[in-house]
Amino acid sequence: MTTKKTCTQLREVAIELGDCRLCQGCVDLNPDVFEWDDNLDMPYVCRSQVTEEEVQDIMNSCPEGCIVFVDC
Ligand code: SF4
Repeated sequence: MTTKKTCTQLREVAIELGDCRLCQGCVDLNPDVFEWDDNLDMPYVCRSQVTEEEVQDIMNSCPEGCIVFVDC
């Protein structure tokens, strides 16, 4: 039997913009973590310290897998 570990520690999240297809999915799903830069026309991280749980869904659903942890 496997047990699921829930991590409540804060981690540093980032967007790998080179692969981003600008779908705005991250901004729609986590507007308190990701915002849209209207000048550059791309998403950016507005709050980089997050729990894994907070960004789990967008990490799994970003079409290009651009949402990554950069702290390890
Ligand atoms: S969900 Fe992924 S591909 Fe879409 S805008 Fe966000 S980072 Fe880019």
